[in-house]
Amino acid sequence: MPAPSPASLTIDLEALAANYRTLEAVGGVPVHPVVKADAYGLGAVACAGRLMREGARTFFVARTREGESLRAGLGPGPAIYVLDGCLTGRAARMREADLRPVVNTPAQLAEWQAAGGGRCGLQIDTGMNRLGFRAQDAPEPFDGLDLVLSHLACADAPSEPMNGRQREAFALTAARYPGTVRSFANSGGVFLGRDYGFDASRPGICLYGGGPEGRPDPRIRPVATFAAEVLQVRDVPAGESVGYSRGFVADAPRRIATVAAGYADGVLRSYSPRGQVGVRGVLRPITGRISMDVCAVDVTGLDVAVGDPVELFGPNRMLDEAASAAGTVAWELLTSVGARVPRRYVG
Ligand SMILES: *Cc1c(COP(=O)(O)O)cnc(C)c1O
Repeated sequence: MPAPSPASLTIDLEALAANYRTLEAVGGVPVHPVVKADAYGLGAVACAGRLMREGARTFFVARTREGESLRAGLGPGPAIYVLDGCLTGRAARMREADLRPVVNTPAQLAEWQAAGGGRCGLQIDTGMNRLGFRAQDAPEPFDGLDLVLSHLACADAPSEPMNGRQREAFALTAARYPGTVRSFANSGGVFLGRDYGFDASRPGICLYGGGPEGRPDPRIRPVATFAAEVLQVRDVPAGESVGYSRGFVADAPRRIATVAAGYADGVLRSYSPRGQVGVRGVLRPITGRISMDVCAVDVTGLDVAVGDPVELFGPNRMLDEAASAAGTVAWELLTSVGARVPRRYVG
């Protein structure tokens, strides 16, 4: 057993399950959870295992290797689709782990079929220009094809007219594959309306506590709490500086807590100068530059002691707000939590 860590990511599996139920109720179709990038850093096997108890039977990952470890963790049964598709030389491994590629190109389809084929998905590009067949190049229906998907480029912006155009393009092309499951909506798409639902949704971020429009949404519960302990508290006289490059200079006497989380843990350097953390139920600014292992928090006027927890994000500092303070999005903030930060599960 390694020593306990002063920084940790606590995952509330009950809140994860509640968000799953909300997404199913709002979308009106089954939820096929996206658990790529280790469930956005929260632990794919733990999250998928909990979601199976809610009824989830189909999951999406990005990479074959993610699919292999998910299969090892979940065992036989659930369907696992790989969004990368069938890369050169991967088909045999995919079949061995009972993974289903989402084929994106004629070459991927040929690769899969040359290895014997089997159940797989097909991605249609309806305008994002990222992955998938353009409608005019989409293949004829073929054996093993059981799911057709497309991905929205602007689902976090409900008034964006591209959403409706993509939806119509998907409906037209998917109609060429009768009997397959049609999957269209990611998290934002679930909230665009029931006509975005088709047969199954494919949310990620809203399961893990991010809002569908990049800001907190009362329907989505926070799932992950990133907390770290205070290592030292000091009084800094006026005129002295804190941290590298004198990134913060005290204009008056200040009480500064040094907290056990830095950029190696996922406290992005771009938090300065706008970062805020939860301490004793209030928000306090991160001061100066963030270092690799620690950051400094201005706790002037608060009764803070060594060992007290500080919340980087969680119920007191919503994920989306923390992300925008760092100039990024919830997806990146969650997937940036460092590998050395232990994941703990409650619920
Ligand atoms: C990542 C991803 C999703 C999940 O998106 P969220 O915005 O996190 O809900 C769905 N579909 C595809 C193809 C993806 O790459």
